[in-house]
Amino acid sequence: ASESEENDVVVIGGGPGGYVAAIKAAQLGLKTTCIEKRGTLGGTCLNVGCIPSKALLHSSHMYHEAKHSFAGHGVKLSSVEVDLPTMMAQKDKAVSNLTRGIEGLFKKNKVTYVKGYGKFISPSEVSVDTLEGGSAIVKGKNIIIATGSDVKSLPGITIDEKRIVSSTGALALLEVPKKLIVIGAGYIGLEMGSVWGRLGSEVTVVEFAPDIVPTMDAEVRKQFQRALEKQKMKFMLKTKVVGVDTTGNGVKLTVEPAAGGEQTTLEADVVLVSAGRVPFTAGLGLDKIGVETDKAGRILVNERFVTNVPGVYAIGDVIPGPMLAHKAEEDGVACVEFIAGKHGHVDYEKVPGVVYTHPEVASVGKTEEQVKALGVDYRVGKFPFLANSRAKAIDDAEGIVKILAEKESDKILGVHIMAPNAGELIHEAVLAVNYGASSEDIARVCHAHPTMSEALKEAAMATYDKPIHV
Ligand code: FAD
Repeated sequence: ASESEENDVVVIGGGPGGYVAAIKAAQLGLKTTCIEKRGTLGGTCLNVGCIPSKALLHSSHMYHEAKHSFAGHGVKLSSVEVDLPTMMAQKDKAVSNLTRGIEGLFKKNKVTYVKGYGKFISPSEVSVDTLEGGSAIVKGKNIIIATGSDVKSLPGITIDEKRIVSSTGALALLEVPKKLIVIGAGYIGLEMGSVWGRLGSEVTVVEFAPDIVPTMDAEVRKQFQRALEKQKMKFMLKTKVVGVDTTGNGVKLTVEPAAGGEQTTLEADVVLVSAGRVPFTAGLGLDKIGVETDKAGRILVNERFVTNVPGVYAIGDVIPGPMLAHKAEEDGVACVEFIAGKHGHVDYEKVPGVVYTHPEVASVGKTEEQVKALGVDYRVGKFPFLANSRAKAIDDAEGIVKILAEKESDKILGVHIMAPNAGELIHEAVLAVNYGASSEDIARVCHAHPTMSEALKEAAMATYDKPIHV
């Protein structure tokens, strides 16, 4: 084994948490090494998550628009076909360009990149089984665990990534399944269900809970579910999967009501298991150095990202909090700022969430249910995209902006947007919420016309006064 000289910071895991932490640490003048076992940087997000899913969402949306909407805009096509290998190649190109881009950023910032599986041998030493077949010892004054998460499996269901797939398999199917069953109505299941539904699959989503995306504002969620149902996505809520049979050609799934009752059998060509994600720490040797985890296997840290072992930190999906790439990045920056003796800061109450279906749903802050539970007096302002001129001009007007503000002070508590580009629109609200703005603050800002953003201004007007256009 070769030994490196001591680093100021060693990061285990090169996902959005780890690679951002490594770059930021190097920018702060700390000698930094990042260890990644995958062979490419970018973690779940770039390789098998955010990026490939958004590539396929975009390509499948283009196909769907060409097939169902172009004619209405006076664009005639004689035929529209899916060329799945090309669609997948475009997705793969996006992924490889971006992962290579991070390697470039490592070089530019002088982060040492070690390709291999890291495991602790002491709180300041990591041994790495390198992908080339050797081994190395990497030493660090500070070690950041950024090993992320993995697919959660369900008891009795074996994922073979062909007929029973995780999100990873669902991003690489070789043909469009005639029937796709999605287990779990979280954002990943709905996004992947949308991709294959647009390409022609009959999609049924089976969910144990009474609602889809349980973290969403209930009123917006209802509209969202209706929008997906219009796209022919079927929902079986309050339903549990009790058996899977793959002995025939397809897959037979036995389900029953969540509360118990009569069983039914569903047939599918492919079943996607998207029942959540679990922290990944296998083979890391946490027990060897005594790092504490909770019952769910998440590493416990204090407000400075330090575990119970001094000098060992953890960030991203492997610690409690929303399992989102941008949250992992914020953790990464704040963590190394603390290491460098600066003041890191992440406000978990103000992390935006986006579901990248069509329409998209984006939110920041509290839902109406959460505000009610707090017992705060509040006002609600809403504005439908049906009354927004840009949305009407482009004939894509399904959606709403909903703002919740404290009655007394008008301070914004939560913003929820369903719109074609809600994931972009939400950031004005994210900024407002982070600066403690009132709804009147947004309403009095001049917004360009005609834009979808005007719907946010109008919803803000509706919160403390009256909107103009409804
Ligand atoms: P990860 O990205 O999981 O990275 C951890 C890395 O550590 C991995 O590359 C792993 O190989 C490596 N590693 C683990 N153990 C070791 C070891 N012992 N030695 C060396 N390397 C190790 N989030 C969003 O915000 N927006 C989205 O649109 C979005 N879409 C998603 C779609 C899908 C299909 C999936 C699955 C996830 C999506 N996510 C999305 C979630 C997002 O991918 C994660 O929140 C994010 O990747 C977490 O970053 P991380 O750095 O904590 O961990």
